[in-house]
Amino acid sequence: MSAGDTLFGRLRNRSPGPFEAPARPAASVGLQLYLDNAGLVQQLSGPLRHLLAQRLASREPAHLLTYLSTHSSLAVEGHPADWQGQLLDLDFATQAGPPLHLRGWVQPQDEGWLLQLLDIGDLLGERQQARSREQAQRLAGQIRDHLRLCSLARLPQVLSEQLQRLSQHLHIPCLAVALLDEQDQGWQIHQQYAALDAPQLWSPAQRLGTALDHLPSAAPQTLAAREPSLTNTIFGLHSGFAVPYCDARGVTAWLLCGAYEPGQQAPDLNDHDWLSLTAAVAAPLLERLREHRHQQQLERLETLQALLGTGWWEVFDGAQVQLAEALADSLGLPATRLAVQDWLAHVHPADRDELRSHLQALQEQGTPLELCVRLQRTGATTPLWYRLQGQALGSGAERRLVGFMLDISDIKNQEQQAAAAHARLDNLIARSPAVIYVQRYVEGALQPTFFSASLQALLGWSLADCADGTLIEHVHAEDRAHYFERTRQLLREGSVSARYRVLDRQGQAHWLLDEARLLRDDLGLPVEAVGLWLDVTDATLAAEQVKASEERYRILVEDSPAMICRYRPDLTLTFGNRPLAMYLECTPAQLPGINLGSWMSAEQREAFLQRLAQLTPQAPVSSAEINLSLPGREHAWWIWSDRGVFDERGQLLEVQAVARDNTEVRRSQQQLTQSAKMATLGEMATGLAHEINQPLNVMRMAIVNVLKRLGNGDVQVDYLTDKLNRIDAQVQRAARVVDHMRVFGRRSEIEQQPFNPLDAIEGTLSLLSEGLRGKGVELRVRESNLQVQVRGYVDQLEQVLINLMVNARDALLGKREANRDFQPWIAVSAESDEHVVRLWVEDNGGGIDPRLLERIFEPFFTTKPVGVGTGLGLSVSYGIIENMGGRLSVRNGDEGARFCIELPVALTD
Ligand code: ADP
Repeated sequence: MSAGDTLFGRLRNRSPGPFEAPARPAASVGLQLYLDNAGLVQQLSGPLRHLLAQRLASREPAHLLTYLSTHSSLAVEGHPADWQGQLLDLDFATQAGPPLHLRGWVQPQDEGWLLQLLDIGDLLGERQQARSREQAQRLAGQIRDHLRLCSLARLPQVLSEQLQRLSQHLHIPCLAVALLDEQDQGWQIHQQYAALDAPQLWSPAQRLGTALDHLPSAAPQTLAAREPSLTNTIFGLHSGFAVPYCDARGVTAWLLCGAYEPGQQAPDLNDHDWLSLTAAVAAPLLERLREHRHQQQLERLETLQALLGTGWWEVFDGAQVQLAEALADSLGLPATRLAVQDWLAHVHPADRDELRSHLQALQEQGTPLELCVRLQRTGATTPLWYRLQGQALGSGAERRLVGFMLDISDIKNQEQQAAAAHARLDNLIARSPAVIYVQRYVEGALQPTFFSASLQALLGWSLADCADGTLIEHVHAEDRAHYFERTRQLLREGSVSARYRVLDRQGQAHWLLDEARLLRDDLGLPVEAVGLWLDVTDATLAAEQVKASEERYRILVEDSPAMICRYRPDLTLTFGNRPLAMYLECTPAQLPGINLGSWMSAEQREAFLQRLAQLTPQAPVSSAEINLSLPGREHAWWIWSDRGVFDERGQLLEVQAVARDNTEVRRSQQQLTQSAKMATLGEMATGLAHEINQPLNVMRMAIVNVLKRLGNGDVQVDYLTDKLNRIDAQVQRAARVVDHMRVFGRRSEIEQQPFNPLDAIEGTLSLLSEGLRGKGVELRVRESNLQVQVRGYVDQLEQVLINLMVNARDALLGKREANRDFQPWIAVSAESDEHVVRLWVEDNGGGIDPRLLERIFEPFFTTKPVGVGTGLGLSVSYGIIENMGGRLSVRNGDEGARFCIELPVALTD
């Protein structure tokens, strides 16, 4: 062995130049060939001879060339003598397997040459291996550099190129890098390369699941084709070679070589080479990817901070604070690092001490900080709200106090608005007579889970008083069945509106209007019911009261002594009460359908309809005294009050009327008028006697004179004619007086008639003028030619005028008794406009005591001595004028009373 070692040492240190053979060849090692001068092999010895393909044939020696691989023949050109002093590297063909690499030299021996050869196969293999490994390392270094130095954007491209390079260098058909997906902990093909004719083992980003976890991760793994294990999901039906990459986190990458057997394709590389090759790819790749992720995270964080108005802060040494740049910016701070005191100075005074104490607690006890504070900004009126959170990280020298600040002004504002809205709503609910409730659905029943605070105010109950099925106890006993039906209907139809009574804490019943709605989940199953209780006690009671009062009014109408009816504008009755029916001698049921007009004269009906036509929604009421001629009965006088019922357009729909029989009153009034008439008549008796006496005297004088002349025979025709004419005039005058007297002898017509009021003045004057003049009262009658007419009774108006003039006369005569020089007068005048006729009777009798002015129209009021005055004159006169639709009034003029009769002008057709 020592000889081999020496030899090896020499061979290894081969230097160019002539070779000096060792003195003594060793026959026990290598191969010895004995050659003749032509190079024919004479004899073989040495242990390697058994490996040779060509063996020495006993008879025919073969040339050395026949033993060699073809490419070695160049080294042995010519004859052995030529090869002296040279080292010969010769490859010998073997029986099986690779050729034998032998090195040797020739030296003369006996007649021929001895070719002494030693096996240098190992030496060559080692060198080859070293070269391969060196190349692999260089490649690894280059790959690492490429992956490290390229830009992030080009990383995928560069990785692909490097994989291709690796694949080509090591003859790997399919090559891939699988990385651990950090999210789902499974393996994924990150990048792959397949040679042109190689099978497509993987698709981009293919997931490999946890298959790789089952491989031992300490060394590269060779996987035979069709290996019946989980792992063949990685290489399919092909053989494969998987190299792990471990870093501080464990196995984080695999280099997968598909359809590959490293022992054959890259026999020179050992596990270590493979691991470092894989590391050259995986380490920078992972580093770059982590760097990328980190950068992305940073970017995201920064964007997020900017978007949210948030940022980190860190306190150093308890006195200094460092803030994220964006945060310092948005707070308007001059620098990112400042004294804690200065930082606190930006906090609103209201929150400053609290934050300081929290910071202290964080620093001293490590109590996590969480606080909302306001920050004052220079120049801004409203402070910004920030949420501050902080915590202590690590311990000892490594201890850090870090946290973040988040702008929550928006949330705070919304919170404040929501709180205000909430408060308003709460207030509204609490003040309203409504209770909002929620009932949970539990196996077909509804159980209260919420009531608004107004429940307490309304009923005095709380949720606890109504929970666990006790609500029903507060429902009025008579309404419980109704309540259960309400629940059933709610569950059946999804909503319900019910009204029932609930007792409050004092036991008082409240009518509640319950409006509820059922809420269902996604599957349509009932979840809860939301509803509203509205206290409608007042409304319900009011409705009941209306009903009761309607009933009372119905009874009232039915039992009223007054006659009550309703009729349409065409005067058809739609309803009449019992008194009306009784008056008409029928039953109430027979009344509807009868036309009121059928009981009136044409004129009455006309006037009645005209009055109805004047009803308006603004003035819907009117009354009148109407005269009815009921079949088979004498005239009836009814005081009739109408009230019109109108639709929204102001159209008269119906009239409600109340009537009172006034026939008796009328009759007594007439009697009163009659007696007043008689009184007037009596008063005038003296005057009348005088009126008649006057012409009688004139006539007697005329007749006496004529008879005297006839006795003398001295009668001329002219004289006679004159006397007779005078007598005739006096007769006519007397006749006229008598004629007017008849007015008082008859009763007024039933129907009012139109007439000219001047007729009444003329009639009055014809009765009274002579008598007044005889008493020395001057009559001042202003001429008038009124052409208008009034409606009524001419005799009654005359009666009124007579009353007024007689009263005036009495006042005048009374005054003259006291004063003989007094010049009494009575003035009568008339005038008219379009609508009204006014007649005045005025005197200079000194007027009426103002304290009595209001009373003089009262019946039986008189200032005259008993037996003289009746006190009826003015009151009856008042009634007469009113009956004609007019008005009688009085005031004191300059010298005496001034009476005024106003009458409506009658419309002539
Ligand atoms: P009588 O004439 O019977 O007293 P009247 O009703 O006619 O009843 O009159 C009531 C009262 O009114 C009279 O008593 C008188 O005092 C007063 N009176 C009426 N007319 C006049 C008048 N022209 N001047 C003064 N007083 C008058």
